[in-house]
Amino acid sequence: MSARDRISRRDLLKGTPSAAPFRARPPGVSRHTLAACTGCGICVEACPETVLLVAPDGVALDPDAGECNFCGKCAEVCPEEVFTPPFRMAHVMEITGDCFVHAGITCMTCRDVCPEEAISMQPRIGAPFLPILDAAACTGCAACSSACPAKAIRAIEKETRND
Ligand code: SF4
Ligand code: SF4
Ligand code: SF4
Repeated sequence: MSARDRISRRDLLKGTPSAAPFRARPPGVSRHTLAACTGCGICVEACPETVLLVAPDGVALDPDAGECNFCGKCAEVCPEEVFTPPFRMAHVMEITGDCFVHAGITCMTCRDVCPEEAISMQPRIGAPFLPILDAAACTGCAACSSACPAKAIRAIEKETRND
């Protein structure tokens, strides 16, 4: 169990555990279709990029494991109604305050690896360029989060009005 899955001591003392943390899922999987996942793991074995895992609540995409190439193999092999069109991610990425540039270290890795050119570097006077992520252009592929040397990029839920 990872640290972010654990219930905090404060929540235990209050007796009110916070909601489960948001998890990234593969393309076409939403919180609604996830209920159909039996945890069989067939999609995990089929993924050529080895970015999938079976979490306690169903199939999940590990944003630190690598880049999803949207090949669709996970959806093809799944025997249940878990993957549904449109085969898009239900998340986008967000750059957190752990980014190296906030420590004065120049880094442009995320900008360089993004296949959608969704990350640009904003010039700043007297400080390293700042990475800016365009959520509208982000497919959630996780190329950036898996390459980030600071583990500073995380998946957040996409606004559902666009789905
Ligand atoms: S679309 Fe392809 S690369 Fe992406 S999670 Fe599914 S099997 Fe893996
Ligand atoms: S790859 Fe990570 S550390 Fe480097 S600029 Fe992007 S978010 Fe910052
Ligand atoms: S998740 Fe993919 S598309 Fe989105 S910013 Fe990162 S590399 Fe670019």
